[in-house]
Amino acid sequence: MTHHDTTTCVFCPDLCLYSCPTVRGSGNSSSSPFAKVSVLHWLNRFPDSSGTKAEDVAYLCTNCGLCTEVCLHDQPVGQWLFEKRQELFSERKVPAQALRMCPDEDSLRQTLVESAELINSSKTPSIVFFPGCDMLKQGPEKVAQVVEVLDRVGIHDVGLDVDGPVCCGAPWRDVGDEAGFLSRIATWHRRFERFEGVVVAEPRCSRALKDASVESSRKRRYPQTFQLWKVLTRSLRSPSRKKIPHVVSLHKSCHIARHLEPHIMPECLSEGFVIERTQENVFSGRQEQCCGHAGGFSEWAEENALRAGEVLMEEASSTGADQILSLAPACAHHLRRARANRTDLPDIIDIVEFTQKALDAGTGKQE
Ligand code: SF4
Ligand code: SF4
Repeated sequence: MTHHDTTTCVFCPDLCLYSCPTVRGSGNSSSSPFAKVSVLHWLNRFPDSSGTKAEDVAYLCTNCGLCTEVCLHDQPVGQWLFEKRQELFSERKVPAQALRMCPDEDSLRQTLVESAELINSSKTPSIVFFPGCDMLKQGPEKVAQVVEVLDRVGIHDVGLDVDGPVCCGAPWRDVGDEAGFLSRIATWHRRFERFEGVVVAEPRCSRALKDASVESSRKRRYPQTFQLWKVLTRSLRSPSRKKIPHVVSLHKSCHIARHLEPHIMPECLSEGFVIERTQENVFSGRQEQCCGHAGGFSEWAEENALRAGEVLMEEASSTGADQILSLAPACAHHLRRARANRTDLPDIIDIVEFTQKALDAGTGKQE
């Protein structure tokens, strides 16, 4: 673990302030990246101070990376806060509320089994679909919906591995348990090596797998992985496709926008094959805003996280978008919850539902 050197933050005029979903969701600038770095800095100098404790700031972060993106000095505030979580974990000082970030794997396994029953496939597939904990929490119908859509886009020999991992381990990293995270990643690779490929539902899992493979020094035969959003958007590349009549604001998610594929815009959207118009976000490209769900923040401060999602939708609405398309099903689920009492805000659709609608429109079915 590298020790965070907070002295490299020059405490500039707070360029990072408006980037942070924890501020956007609370209106409280005392949780700005600047303020959190300041707390870490003084705790490094005076560990026994009776002021704000490390645990009060370490979990106020989605690790979205936007503060680093906007900072003229590239300060890795999210990384520092996550390193602080690791320290808290090793010192057994993780607050009980943070432990809720780790899902109940037995109950997720039950959902995975129910999903397999819905799909009704008994033979072992060559390609496995990995829903991950975020999608399993949405229920077996959601998982079955993805497998059905994958079949419709031509990936027929795809199924579930009911004895395989239910979570990539990312929530353990969110808590600060790096060993718990890396051991689950290792299990994930060992189990899925037997398949020809793995379709990964959530960008959050793809990011965790990427981070862990960079950190791992051991050579192993990794299973070939495919990101679900890429598989689906590629299937919609035909210019002859009927258009869905929406002005869409694209939410790539902070995982894709800054950590996985910063420069990619799905061709089916950039070329206008599927929708009337893609509306530029207020903050777009690498500076796309976080919806508030990542990094365990939904479990740590649910109300704040939902409000951050609401602010993101308000901004999308101000650009004239009537629909927000999320490439991450988990972000879409979070935004939908945030929209529960705000039906004036744009409709939310995830990439699976979007593909389904585009395929239906293409075959002349009603939208
Ligand atoms: S993290 Fe960067 S943008 Fe934020 S206060 Fe420090 S130097 Fe300024
Ligand atoms: S990484 Fe994101 S959530 Fe964390 S301090 Fe920076 S802007 Fe805020």
